Amino acid sequence: MRAQPRSTLRTTGDGGADFPLLIDGRWVSARDGARFAAHDPYLEQDWGEVADAGPADVDAAVVSAHAAFIDRRWSGLLAGERARRLLQLADLLERDAPALVQQQIFENGKLISEMRPGMAAVAGDCRFFAGLAETLQGASVPPSRPGFTTFTLREPMGVVAAITPWNTPLGLLAWKLFPALAAGNTVVIKPSEVTPTSTLMLAELALEAGIPAGVVNVVTGAARTGAALVAHPLVAKVAFTGSTTTGQAIAAQAAGHTARVTLELGGKSPNILFADADLDRAINGVMAGIFAASGQSCMAGSRVLVHSTLFDRVCEALAERGSRLIAGDPLDPATQLGPLASRAQLDKVLGYFEIARAERLRCLVGGQRLPRQGYFVAPTVYADVSPDSRLAREEIFGPVAVVMRFDSEEQAVAMANDTRYGLAAGVWTEDLRLAHRMIHQLRAGTIWVNNYRIIGHTLPFGGYGQSGIGREMGAAALEAYTETKSVWIDLGNPVEFATGPMGDRHGL
Ligand code: ADP
Repeated sequence: MRAQPRSTLRTTGDGGADFPLLIDGRWVSARDGARFAAHDPYLEQDWGEVADAGPADVDAAVVSAHAAFIDRRWSGLLAGERARRLLQLADLLERDAPALVQQQIFENGKLISEMRPGMAAVAGDCRFFAGLAETLQGASVPPSRPGFTTFTLREPMGVVAAITPWNTPLGLLAWKLFPALAAGNTVVIKPSEVTPTSTLMLAELALEAGIPAGVVNVVTGAARTGAALVAHPLVAKVAFTGSTTTGQAIAAQAAGHTARVTLELGGKSPNILFADADLDRAINGVMAGIFAASGQSCMAGSRVLVHSTLFDRVCEALAERGSRLIAGDPLDPATQLGPLASRAQLDKVLGYFEIARAERLRCLVGGQRLPRQGYFVAPTVYADVSPDSRLAREEIFGPVAVVMRFDSEEQAVAMANDTRYGLAAGVWTEDLRLAHRMIHQLRAGTIWVNNYRIIGHTLPFGGYGQSGIGREMGAAALEAYTETKSVWIDLGNPVEFATGPMGDRHGL
């Protein structure tokens, strides 16, 4: 029998939603009782009810997080103690990994073969930032004026709003929540309305791990909920992953009260195959780059740039292998292609197939919905696509590759960089010198040489251009959740060192 989602988290005692909000350590309904459906994109069925937080609920969550910050119940602990509880959380994430993996699959339809390693990475991310908590340090700095000692401190910012997308719900939450907590901040999470329940389960584990009430809060809902959170004047920082359009709206809103932002946004990343590429490996990389997660990935290698000498062979291989991918139940480890995560995403991708038809693009494979249950679209490849085509310029977030040809390194670089995005790029060549030249010439936050789509917690991840602001992961990500405080201590030298009525020691 097929596994079932966890359809109730906590009862609130008031007949409220199956999945309530978490505010100040308590599970509560939305004040106006509003709720929305949790939906399975493979079965095309609703399976639970989630509280829909309005502005009053968001305010309560932020006020609770702010109170928890001000009374220092978390930031006042020794960093080593925060680390201990995060390590406990990592253990709990491993204990409950099978359930957390399944719950995300019921929400977004992503394959179990992708979600299992993804969940292991979440526990690893948690341990990484736990380990860094005690390394957070300022610097002892040589003073620029006589008679002082000067140093800096790194302090938590306050309330962090973490707004996450639906494609990798817990993985992308991990990148925000764990550094924020390690640095001593308190957090209000607003998961995507497509994937709210797995985040609530993670928050439940944070309480079990001894992270105090009010330090991790969750408000569920859609854009209205997120917008109320970003606009709240007590939010000190917004960490967001999602579309470029929404990210830009969030940055504008956050600027209204000078909240800091980290934005990890869209991409239209090139995967570049040079004439000497190891073709089997390169085609595997292209397949993984665009068809993993059914293409619903910010780092999808959605533009395949191929040297003319390989062009026909690559097109043929992609069409042949794309048509053979096994679509099916995302809970089945043998499945290679899952559904899109929502009806809205399906409509968006089908809309691009219409555009492709209107633009008369040459479709090698796919270009249509699969005639079966679930929001499936066929793996799709368009060849000889003009760089001006909307399919070559816009992020589709579906299993749709455009293949374009080039003849020279210079042309490959120009085509690769001809985008408003700059999240990632893949380069396939056996020529070491060419690889290094490409690394320097490509304008993107991550460059993969002879691999694609590999990420891990020790290296920063983020984008150039309209792919975002700031970096997540890597040790430096911890500092992105801190303010720097500069300290001047007057060593009390004799007053005659001072000059003028106030003494120049006080002037600018
Ligand atoms: P998608 O439309 O594919 O869900 P988004 O980038 O719009 O992608 O969504 C990412 C996250 O941002 C989700 O949690 C969503 O609810 C939230 N969101 C959407 N619009 C806004 C907004 N105006 N302000 C704050 N959060 C938003």
